[in-house]
Order: sequence, then C-alpha cells, then structure tokens
Amino acid sequence: MKDKIHVIVWNEFVHEKEHEAVRAVYPDGIHRVIADFLGTDKTFSLGTATLDQPDHGLTEERLATCDVLIWWGHMAHDKVSDSIVDRVQKRILEGMGLIVLHSGHYSKIFRRMLGTTCSLKWREAEELERIWVVEPSHPIAAGLGQYFEIPYEEMYGERFEIPAPDETVFLSWFEGGEVFRSGCCWTRGHGRIFYFRPGHETYPTYYQKEVQTVIANAVHWAAPRVTITGVENSPNITVPLSPIQKKDVHFAKAGVIQQGGKNL
Ligand code: ZN
Repeated sequence: MKDKIHVIVWNEFVHEKEHEAVRAVYPDGIHRVIADFLGTDKTFSLGTATLDQPDHGLTEERLATCDVLIWWGHMAHDKVSDSIVDRVQKRILEGMGLIVLHSGHYSKIFRRMLGTTCSLKWREAEELERIWVVEPSHPIAAGLGQYFEIPYEEMYGERFEIPAPDETVFLSWFEGGEVFRSGCCWTRGHGRIFYFRPGHETYPTYYQKEVQTVIANAVHWAAPRVTITGVENSPNITVPLSPIQKKDVHFAKAGVIQQGGKNL
C-alpha cells in the first residue's frame, strides 16, 4: 500500500489567543480546523505545529518525514526563527511541498523562497470575493465550477509583488473592484509551492467547502514525487566516468590557442 501523505499544518496561533473576535470563529485555532477537514481524506496523515512549541514544532525529525507543510501566519512573522526558516527552505529544495495561506504572503519562508517583497494592497470591509478558476484542468481546481464566492472576506489587490507564477490557477475579483492572483504555483529546487489567498482570521472562510477542496487538492499536488538530498552540495568530480584525452593545449591569451608550442 502506498504511504500516506504526511502533512503538518503550521499556525502562529496568536490571534486566537489574544482576540475574542477570532477565538469566536476558530476557538481551537485555525490549524485545528484545517487539520480536521483535511483529516477526512484518508490518504493524508495530519499533524499540527505552532509558534510557541520548541523549534516552532518544526524539529529536524518532524520535517524529515513531512511531505507537505501548510503555513498560516500574520502578526508574528518576525518571531519565527531564521534557523527554522533555513531548515524549512532546505526541505523544500529537497522536494517537500509548501502551501502558504492568506497573510502568510509576508512570512519569512514565503519571501525567502520567492525572493521578492510579496507586498500587496488590502482592505478589511466584509466584502464579497469571487474566485475565478482560470485553469480548470489544473489538479488544484478539481471539483470546482467556473468560479465560487466567499461572502465576506478581506480584499487583497494587485500589484502582488511576486515573481511571475509558473501557473496561476485562480483570479479573485472583489466587490470593491480590485483583482488579485489568488492561486499561484511555483517550483523551487525539487519542491512545489502553492499560495492560496483566502483566510482572514475573523471570517469563517476555512469552513467553506470550496476552500477546503482547494487546500486538499493542493496537498495532493504539492506532495513530493521524489526526495533528493544533498542539494546544497557542489562536488568537484576529479575522477570522470569515462577517460578524458590529454589535450596539451594552452590558452595563451584571448583568441590564441597553442598546442605543442604552436598556435592553432
Ligand atoms: Zn487578513
């Protein structure tokens, strides 16, 4: 039998403890709700991790067996240790999948992997978000129609300062008029990265069926096909696979090649 896909849902888990309005929607934390709906897919093995745990719950041992890491953060991005970001980056380059949700666009790990500021426009006004499926044949869009709507969300608007995605699966339109690339795919090293926009902490977005479908599809898509270790090494291969003939050539100066003391 095929091994299960090992998923860790990481959440900074700060809003839920500090703000009653967020606790009302996610009493046990956003990570718990995401882990619970993903848990209905029996091909997944679920775990959670939070900022306040030792190593933010992301020890070498846990990451070594993690296939897909899901990331939600907002107000405590700067509390995430750089050494843990290094560790997560290494695993992505080896093939681990990363799914970054909503305000995770400003997380250290997302900005590290993409290399840009990942800034955007925003507005909190309980507005309608219509998410258009612009790549209906993409595996992350499986089971969705032409579009779906989230009745109350925060607005994120372009320009989203990201490198051009390898694939853009979703495009959001907001009641107030802005648009946003809301489902974006990249590959870094051997790892697949997916950014999915919805999920403001005061709205019940992660209870919505279509949103759950997208995240579950993204876990299947981002799961590693293969894990390549040692990607940080650049070995000098002094013994070639097949013999290399000795050329006795000499590069005297620009444009002049000498062999056996003669210019060629
Ligand atoms: Zn938000």
